[in-house]
Amino acid sequence: MADKQYKQLGCLDVDANVGCGFQVRTETEAELMQLVATHAKQCHKLESIPSEMAAKVKSAIKTVTVTV
Ligand SMILES: [Zn+2]
Repeated sequence: MADKQYKQLGCLDVDANVGCGFQVRTETEAELMQLVATHAKQCHKLESIPSEMAAKVKSAIKTVTVTV
């Protein structure tokens, strides 16, 4: 068994009023931002994430430890 750290973020962590249950967990922040961008485009009709929102997203990212 080993502890592994993941980055975790959900739409509700960025905006509690968004009403979207999307949540991702990845190994790196870059990977997470990629998935968030894809989701934002598909589900929230955002062609790109505004820098202001990207800052909000980054500050909302949590590091979780999972035992595998
Ligand atoms: Zn969403």
